[in-house]
Amino acid sequence: MNILIINSGSSSIKFQLIEMPSEALICSGLVERIGNKDAVLNYKTNATSLQQTAEIDNHKQGLLKIVELLLDPEKGVIKSTNEIEIVGHRVVHGGNSFSNTTLITAEVKQDIQKYAALAPLHNPGNLQGILVAEEFFPLAKQVAVFDTAFHQSIPEKAKKYAIPNNLYEEQGIQVYGFHGTSHQYVSEKAIDYLGLKTSKIISIHLGNGCSITAIVDGKSIDHSLGFTPSNGLIMGTRSGDIDHGIIYHLVDNLGYSVAEVKDLLTNKSGMLGLTGYNDLRDIEAEAEKGNKNCILALTMNAYRIKKYIGSYVAAMNGLDAIIFTAGIGENSSVIRQLVCMDMDYFGIDLDKAKNELKSKNLREINTATSKVKILVIPTNEELEIAKQAFQLLN
Ligand code: ADP
Repeated sequence: MNILIINSGSSSIKFQLIEMPSEALICSGLVERIGNKDAVLNYKTNATSLQQTAEIDNHKQGLLKIVELLLDPEKGVIKSTNEIEIVGHRVVHGGNSFSNTTLITAEVKQDIQKYAALAPLHNPGNLQGILVAEEFFPLAKQVAVFDTAFHQSIPEKAKKYAIPNNLYEEQGIQVYGFHGTSHQYVSEKAIDYLGLKTSKIISIHLGNGCSITAIVDGKSIDHSLGFTPSNGLIMGTRSGDIDHGIIYHLVDNLGYSVAEVKDLLTNKSGMLGLTGYNDLRDIEAEAEKGNKNCILALTMNAYRIKKYIGSYVAAMNGLDAIIFTAGIGENSSVIRQLVCMDMDYFGIDLDKAKNELKSKNLREINTATSKVKILVIPTNEELEIAKQAFQLLN
C-alpha cells in the first residue's frame, strides 16, 4: 500500500511516498518558498534527483507540481493518483480533541481550524495541505497525525499552569506539547534497541524548534514546550523560558506593542538574538574562530538542556537513556559534548571518540561504564506518520 505523507508548513510542503508495511521509501521531496517567484522544488527517487525553481503562488500550485512529478512518465513513480491509498498529514496542534491518529472528516477539519488560534504558524498550512490533497487524491483516505497527541499522557500536575482554574477548564490553557511524532518515533526505537520492559528516557529534539520530553514506559510524562511552541529550550529564533515580567516591561516601559514582543521572542531571539546567526553550523564555525557571543550562546544552549535533564531525572526518579535527535541533535557533536559534560552525578558518561563519529544510523555514544545510555537516533517523522496511518486503517 502506498502512503503519501504531507508535512505542509506556512510556506513549504515536505512530502514522502512510503510503501507500507515494508516501510520502503519510494520518493521524497520538498517545495520551499511558496508564495515567491523563485520557489524551489526538490524531488528524489532511487533513480532521480532534481531541483527546479518556479513561481509557486500557493499550496495548491505546490501540490500540483508534486503530483505532476509523481505521475511523470520518466521521473515519476506512479501511473495514476488512485495508486495513493492513504494521505497522511502532519498536523501540529490537535488541542485536547485528539490523543490518537484520526481519519479526517469535516469535523476534524473544523477542529484543526479552531486550534489555529493556538498554532498560527502551523495549523493553517497543515489545513491547506489537507484541502488540496482531498482535491488531488479524491479516492484516498486522509489521515491526520497530531504533534500534540503523544503528550496527551502528561498528568495534570505537569500540564496545568498555576493560573486560575477556569482558564484551564473553560479556555484550555495548559501544556499541549509538540514534536510528539518525533519523540514517539525515537523513544520507541530506543526501547527496542535497549530491550527494556520498563524504561525512563529523556528525548531531546534539537532542530530549528527544540524540545525535551520525559518518557516513562513509552509515555510522555513531561515536556518543555507548552501551550504554544515557545517555552523551554533555547531555539534557533525563539527564546524558550523567560521571566514573563520581561514582557510587561517591554510593553509598559519600552514602548513595544504586543505584536512586536511576539515577533521579538518568536523570530528574533534564541540563538539568532544571541549571535546574529540561527544556523548552528555558522555559530559553531564562528565559535571556532573565537567569537565570544557564539561561544557563550553554545554554552547557554547546553546549560538550559542540562537543567531540563536534571529536572526530568527528578520527575522520573531515574534515567536509563537520553536520546539526541533532529538536525542539531543528530549532527552537532559540540552541543552533545557540552550537554553531557560534568554529568557524572547522574551516571551520564560520554565517549568523546564515539561522539565524533558520523553516521545516519542509531548509535550509542556513551562509554562502556556509563550507567545511562546516550543514543543518537535519526528522527523520521514521516515514517512515524506512515506507520500510524497504516495501523489506523489496517
Ligand atoms: P526543522 O526543525 O526545521 O525540521 P532540522 O531538524 O532540520 O530542523 O534542524 C535544522 C538545524 O540543524 C539547522 O538550523 C542547523 O543549525 C542544524 N544542523 C544541521 N546540520 C548540522 C551540522 N552538521 N552541525 C551542526 N548543526 C547542524
